[in-house]
Amino acid sequence: MKILIIGRGIVGSSLYYMLKDLGHSVIVVESGFRKFYPTLIHSLLLKGKDIELAIESKKFYEKYKIPSIKYPSYTIGKIDKKIIDDWMSYGFNVEEKYINWLNSYAIVGKNTDSLVAIKKLIDKVPYIDGVAKIKNSVVEVDGKTVNADIIILTAGAWNSYITDFKLPLKSYYCWAWVTSNTNSLLDKVFIYDYELGYYSRPLFGLGMKLNIVGDGDTIVSDPFTKRFGDLSPVKKATERVGELRPLFRGEGYCEGTPDMKPVYGRITDKVYIAGGLNGYGAEVGPGIAKLLVDFITKGTEEKEYIIDRFSNVSDFELGKEPHEL
Ligand SMILES: Cc1cc2nc3c(=O)[nH]c(=O)nc-3n(C[C@H](O)[C@H](O)[C@H](O)COP(=O)(O)OP(=O)(O)OC[C@H]3O[C@@H](n4cnc5c(N)ncnc54)[C@H](O)[C@@H]3O)c2cc1C
Repeated sequence: MKILIIGRGIVGSSLYYMLKDLGHSVIVVESGFRKFYPTLIHSLLLKGKDIELAIESKKFYEKYKIPSIKYPSYTIGKIDKKIIDDWMSYGFNVEEKYINWLNSYAIVGKNTDSLVAIKKLIDKVPYIDGVAKIKNSVVEVDGKTVNADIIILTAGAWNSYITDFKLPLKSYYCWAWVTSNTNSLLDKVFIYDYELGYYSRPLFGLGMKLNIVGDGDTIVSDPFTKRFGDLSPVKKATERVGELRPLFRGEGYCEGTPDMKPVYGRITDKVYIAGGLNGYGAEVGPGIAKLLVDFITKGTEEKEYIIDRFSNVSDFELGKEPHEL
């Protein structure tokens, strides 16, 4: 089959590898709208079926030799016992301890969280440089029609703006700050602090006095309007880890769904979609790509993520990012 993928982001790139391996002819179109930072968080400490997607994504990174480096994680806050039992049932190494330097109890995860070199995954994918649009199931790239047996829409926050389909998706702005600090440990651990409402991750992972903090807040916005995220994540994190000096704001646009879980499936006979990755695309993106490949090639369906679950939704508000437990 000749397959056209719109968007060389996390899902589009994952689909490229998977479909090529199955012997299909795959073309990827990329507009350059999105800027990618070198690494993103991959955590297995999610909820419900998302854990399986995260495990699938991890296997994918290993198979395609995408570098990822593990660091311990500290989860602070009242976490439902059922969630912790689930983590244990998967064999994850998690243990509750008092952590002096955080002045708090935390669930310490070992081998559960890593930084994945997502840019390396994306940079290896060949692509046609251009802006794709879909109208009446016909794709035009910079005004020229491109034919394919199957079209897969994976343009992230731009999905709803480049097609004439009404999709159960909303784009939003999200941001995080690179900060300098006085504690070199912060460049070697993940902190998910649900008590104060922020996360901290390593910047380079080398023990430099630098880290990244964000709070999972979202501002509903089209992806073409410039927004400016505030310093709230820095203020929240300072309460726990001491003084942090904001140096640089990393930002971009993500895409949310009514239940803040990803979607995949068929939109028309020829057009498929995988998206709505809600700020945790490195964790669930390759997993969703695999579900879409199985759906297209074998006809199997995972009800929890299929797009048809929103067929009666006309409008919705975005919830909290799903990484928040
Ligand atoms: C600041 C920030 C930090 C984040 N940190 C993390 C993290 O640590 N861990 C994590 O799991 N997730 C993180 N995310 C979320 C993650 O980046 C997204 O969930 C994920 O990238 C979504 O994947 P996608 O493939 O759906 O879309 P994207 O990865 O956004 O890819 C869509 C692609 O389509 C292209 N495109 C758009 N329109 C067109 C068009 N008309 N024609 C052709 N191409 C087009 C875009 O340029 C882009 O390259 C973060 C996001 C931001 C903004």
